[in-house]
Amino acid sequence: MRFGPDVEWIDRVVYEVDEAKADQFYDAIRKFWPALPEGSLHADYSGIRPKLAGPGQPSRDFLIEGEEDHGVKGVVNLFGIESPGLTSCLAIADHVADLLGKYSA
Ligand SMILES: Cc1cc2nc3c(=O)[nH]c(=O)nc-3n(C[C@H](O)[C@H](O)[C@H](O)COP(=O)(O)OP(=O)(O)OC[C@H]3O[C@@H](n4cnc5c(N)ncnc54)[C@H](O)[C@@H]3O)c2cc1C
Repeated sequence: MRFGPDVEWIDRVVYEVDEAKADQFYDAIRKFWPALPEGSLHADYSGIRPKLAGPGQPSRDFLIEGEEDHGVKGVVNLFGIESPGLTSCLAIADHVADLLGKYSA
């Protein structure tokens, strides 16, 4: 079973996982699984998640930039496609297709 993820703001790229964070996970998981045995959790991987909003800032919407924004024909930048990016993927794809179709016309 897999739990998480959590978020940790960093100033440099590091992939080590602090095993001491397990305590926070035990506390959180035991809210819905009180009998979770001590010593049963093991650290998984970490990754770097680029964010459009920094610590303490309100989260912001996806940022999609086409030729009108950056001036490069045929290029669409998609920034900050975090949750609910998966749910939105078909709508995002339609929007990108519109942008590309618009520019190729
Ligand atoms: C824990 C978690 C839970 C989430 N839950 C939800 C949810 O419930 N509902 C929802 O709608 N969204 C959810 N999301 C958000 C959703 O997963 C993302 O919005 C979506 O996956 C973004 O799609 P993407 O194609 O832009 O990027 P990704 O899915 O990240 O795809 C990028 C791909 O590019 C590859 N790649 C990166 N660099 C290189 C390189 N240099 N060369 C080659 N390949 C490269 C990566 O390996 C990856 O396969 C969740 C995200 C996380 C992290």
